[in-house]
Amino acid sequence: MTLKKTIIRGGLETLYFSGMHHLMRPLFGGVGAILTLHHVRPSRPDAFQPNRLLEVSPHFFERLLRWLKRRNFDVISMDEMHRRFIADEFRRRFVCITFDDGYKDFKTHAYPLLQKYEMPFALYIATSFPDRLGELWWLALEAVIAQNDRIGMLIDGRQQFFDCGSVKEKRDLYDAVYGYLRSLKTEDELRRVVRDLCARHRVDLVGFCRDLCMGWDEIAELSGDPLCTIGAHTVNHKMLLKVPDETAVRAEMDMSRAVLEAALGKRPEHLAYPVGDPTSAGPREFRIASELGFKTAVTTRPGVLFRAHRDYLTALPRISVNGEFQEQRYLKVLVSGAATAMWNGFRRVNAA
Ligand SMILES: [Zn+2]
Repeated sequence: MTLKKTIIRGGLETLYFSGMHHLMRPLFGGVGAILTLHHVRPSRPDAFQPNRLLEVSPHFFERLLRWLKRRNFDVISMDEMHRRFIADEFRRRFVCITFDDGYKDFKTHAYPLLQKYEMPFALYIATSFPDRLGELWWLALEAVIAQNDRIGMLIDGRQQFFDCGSVKEKRDLYDAVYGYLRSLKTEDELRRVVRDLCARHRVDLVGFCRDLCMGWDEIAELSGDPLCTIGAHTVNHKMLLKVPDETAVRAEMDMSRAVLEAALGKRPEHLAYPVGDPTSAGPREFRIASELGFKTAVTTRPGVLFRAHRDYLTALPRISVNGEFQEQRYLKVLVSGAATAMWNGFRRVNAA
């Protein structure tokens, strides 16, 4: 994780300062890009913020929108993007702005700016979040480590204890436990470990969605805005690749669409895979989303869009607007496609 971050940062600095991305733009710039955001909120001073990469400040978000406007990108909806792929219409480079999970801070800090600049956006909602049953386990893990100087957990059936009194210990322990959880074979195992950890250390696991995620009233209000596309994000926000039973994977996608349709009166036509990296969504998930009739489905695999993605509309890459890189110069490089082209080994479509 840390290593990957360093490489990205290092790579971007090099690309930016050498100006290489300008040379590569015609080759790797693609026809457009889909941006991923999670939280938009003022930054906090805490030293231990392992999930900080999931947030950007309102100030940075506004700079991003102004930059898109100034650079004359077409900021379009997911429907319009889909139409352009089908019509093979790529005269102007486009950008789609997407938000995962449906946090309350979206409505407070991002939505007013999107209205101000009249830019369409998509919100991908895991329906257990507004139902107040969702497990935002990455935040629960952060809370357990933040609130304790020593934690106990079961690893492979064995009781183990870890000191986490200092900020450095907390950061190291978060990375280690996060890595351990992500290495587990199934999502069920991951959830079991997290539930045990939360119960031992008195952290209310489902409290995070109540405190941080929009409720149905707020989502319904946004859904009435023509700028807004509500997309499905499964029911329980599981890494689908780690759900062995294909029927269950299908149900996660289909049920969330049905619940959103019942609640909002509109049938979602777009999907985002939870977590969305190659360990969370692969060819089986891309096929099921397509069989279920979603117009598009997005991953978090990094990349810009090419004409060829027309044949992979349920395996689309995105560019993460990352809290660790709140510098416009980083974003310029990412949107140019140069950095992600290198990341993907210069393959344009990465859907394997
Ligand atoms: Zn998500």
